[in-house]
Amino acid sequence: MPFDLLRRFIFLKMRVLKFGGTSVGSVENIKKMLAVVADAQKKHGRVIVVFSAMSGVTNKLLEAADLASQSNENYKSIIKDIETKHYDVINALIEAKNQSKAMGSVKLFINELEEILQGVFLLRELSDRTKDLVVSFGERLSTYIISEVVLQEQADVNFVDARNLIKTDNSFTNAKVSIKTTEENIKEYFAKNTSLQLVTGFIASNSKNETTTLGRGGSDYTAAIIGGALENCEEIEIWTDVDGMLTADPRVVKKAFSLPNISYIEAMELSHFGAKVIYPPTLQPAFAKNIPISIKNTFNPTHPGTLITNVSAASNYTIKGITSISDVALVSIQGSGMMGETGFSGRMFTALAKHKINIILITQASSEYSITFAVTPTDARRAKAILQDEFENDFKSGKLDPVKIDNEVSIIAIIGENMKQTPGISAKLFKALGTNGINVIAIAQGSSEYNLSVVIGKNDLSKALNALHEGFFSSDLHTLNVFVVGLGLIGNTLLKQIAAQKEYLATKKSMDINIVGIANSKKMLFKADGIDINNWINELENKGEVSNLDTFFEGMRKLNLPNSIFIDNTSNKDIVKYYEPTLNASISVVTPNKVANSGPYEYYLKLNTTAAKRNVQFLYETNVGAGLPIIGTLKDLLNSGDQIIRIEAVLSGTLSFIFNSYKAGTSFHDIVKDAKAKGYTEPDPRDDLNGMDVARKILILARDSGFALEPSDVEVENILPQNCCDAKTVDEFFVELNKSNDHFEKRRAAAEAEGKVLRFIATLENGKASVSLKAVDGSHPFYSMQGSDNIISFTTERYKDRPLVVKGPGAGAEVTAAGVFADIIKVGSILK
Ligand code: ADP
Ligand code: ASP
Ligand code: MG
Repeated sequence: MPFDLLRRFIFLKMRVLKFGGTSVGSVENIKKMLAVVADAQKKHGRVIVVFSAMSGVTNKLLEAADLASQSNENYKSIIKDIETKHYDVINALIEAKNQSKAMGSVKLFINELEEILQGVFLLRELSDRTKDLVVSFGERLSTYIISEVVLQEQADVNFVDARNLIKTDNSFTNAKVSIKTTEENIKEYFAKNTSLQLVTGFIASNSKNETTTLGRGGSDYTAAIIGGALENCEEIEIWTDVDGMLTADPRVVKKAFSLPNISYIEAMELSHFGAKVIYPPTLQPAFAKNIPISIKNTFNPTHPGTLITNVSAASNYTIKGITSISDVALVSIQGSGMMGETGFSGRMFTALAKHKINIILITQASSEYSITFAVTPTDARRAKAILQDEFENDFKSGKLDPVKIDNEVSIIAIIGENMKQTPGISAKLFKALGTNGINVIAIAQGSSEYNLSVVIGKNDLSKALNALHEGFFSSDLHTLNVFVVGLGLIGNTLLKQIAAQKEYLATKKSMDINIVGIANSKKMLFKADGIDINNWINELENKGEVSNLDTFFEGMRKLNLPNSIFIDNTSNKDIVKYYEPTLNASISVVTPNKVANSGPYEYYLKLNTTAAKRNVQFLYETNVGAGLPIIGTLKDLLNSGDQIIRIEAVLSGTLSFIFNSYKAGTSFHDIVKDAKAKGYTEPDPRDDLNGMDVARKILILARDSGFALEPSDVEVENILPQNCCDAKTVDEFFVELNKSNDHFEKRRAAAEAEGKVLRFIATLENGKASVSLKAVDGSHPFYSMQGSDNIISFTTERYKDRPLVVKGPGAGAEVTAAGVFADIIKVGSILK
């Protein structure tokens, strides 16, 4: 038996392989591609291989044609680049003795191309027909050169110009295949030619043998047409530069992962709604003939990739993937003329269809008062004109309002065959979008229920894709994107704590804290994929730009990342005005900085209402008592229906230390001096002793308890005698304080005589907040205090007889940073 016949006998089955632009885009890549082909020949025997143009070439050809049509000579340099790109492959992969033939043939291709473009240049006219002829050189050149390369290894190889096989109508740039003739041609050709066949993708011809193309990305389709026509095709393999069909576009969603098995329908929906990895028409011939399609990675050939068959494989997730079309226009028509008018929408869509307007999505409010549909931006104006024409009288009489077009929108679709059996999918979708402040403009569920689509603003697209990916594929790590301003003691400690807990949070809480922006007063740095938390000092130093609050805020907004949190670790007054716009940008705010909450009541209220409106968090547990659970406890009590009767608290670690240490036989002056020496006081201890800091804290607690107090409403007792207040310097102050020991001793002794001790206490009662030095007896929870602890007692309807007391260290970088950290995790848990 001749060898060829023997081979056909043994290898009855065959496969069609298709390699995309990147797989043939460079010398290195071509080598990898050739290895895959050799391997496939070994495994499967007979293979037919379809090629795209080298990556970028189709676009370059179109650009050259466009320039030529504008009489711009620059098209010539583009052609030169294309020529060089191909010569480079010949030089590297074809032995010197065979090069001249290949070089000569490429030169002929290029000459022909130049002649065509010269014509375009002179006529200043570029028809779709000429465009197709021009782009055909991309696939012809790549496939021809590869055939010359392979010829060196295998004598039995043919370069096949698909224009001789695939016949289409005259719709240049997006031609419709004449299936019957095409299949006959294919059957006939491949019955006769059983050796290795290398075929140009994308290109075809009409009945007059003029060059047509199958639409951008059409090489995939070429492979499916060939596979579909051949009875013995067992699989169509699409070789590209990713590990198959992923859960989302990996260029936008870093956590997208490969889907091992999907159905034709799922693949169709995913690709139709933008997953570029496979050209949608490709699925049709495979589906019709039930031929599996696999999508594989030329650069990672051992990865199984994705297998597309007629079964929708079970999976751990409710959906299979998320896709999007970024550039869409929404056309809306409304008016009383539509109400109850039977046949209105029928007439409308017939008119649009007649003009070949492709409608991507339709929504109609149940009132029938408006219809909105999505089209490509290039179709939007035409659609408007068609509607105005069709319903001319209704527009004139005012029964219809003018047609509205919104060009700045995108469509996102979630896809999966099992969606229809799973309740709660849309709730999940809206939660993920809602918690990230993404406004849904329109919704459409495909009648198949394989697809749920939403229209959103274009600016939000990347954020929405990532948020939905988190929402639906959540066994995956949940990323919090954190911006940190203020890298002093607290900021620094916070970053250390986050670094230390990273592993734990990832494994136990599926939470990943991604530091995406940092700033101190000198420098700032943004990095969307995360700043190295163990090396941020160097990164900031070397890559940071000059710090500026406006730019920092703009940077956060522009990044538009989902699950974003802004941390303000400063005590800066200027920064708080950014809180409101930050919350408005759907970024949660976490801060130990008291300034925002203790300024005008109106701003406090605004921040809280904005956070609620935007569905984000404004958390400031560390405003009062550092890491102690004070504000959280207060809110829990109120949320659970308890009522506050009285709050009493020692809220200054410094004043706590001073009065806890003030006993018989000591002098007040010496104690304050000692506190300063230990670093417990502000540089000027009067900033502690004047009680203002405590006043701010009780003000915040009063507001959180529901009282609309202004800072001036808090009564603050000045415990310092006038001479101490008047002292010009800190040293002078201590001199005056030493003179005033008696003043304090009198109060202390009087208290002691009654069995009491002095405590500097903030009180909230009957809507009134005050701060004063009080004497408390042994029955009071503040009587036996030590060191610099804070203490707070909530007397409520439920905790009436014995108040609820929270006590512990109320200052220090470690505990404050831990409190901020806890708030970050709280935001993360709410977002989940
Ligand atoms: P080729 O040139 O091989 O035909 P394409 O560029 O047409 O390759 O398609 C592959 C690209 O599709 C990938 O590099 C990826 O960036 C993009 N892509 C978009 N959505 C998806 C998705 N859901 N899964 C995989 N790839 C996707
Ligand atoms: N080269 C063509 C394009 O870029 C076809 C393809 O790559 O599939 O659209
Ligand atoms: Mg492609």
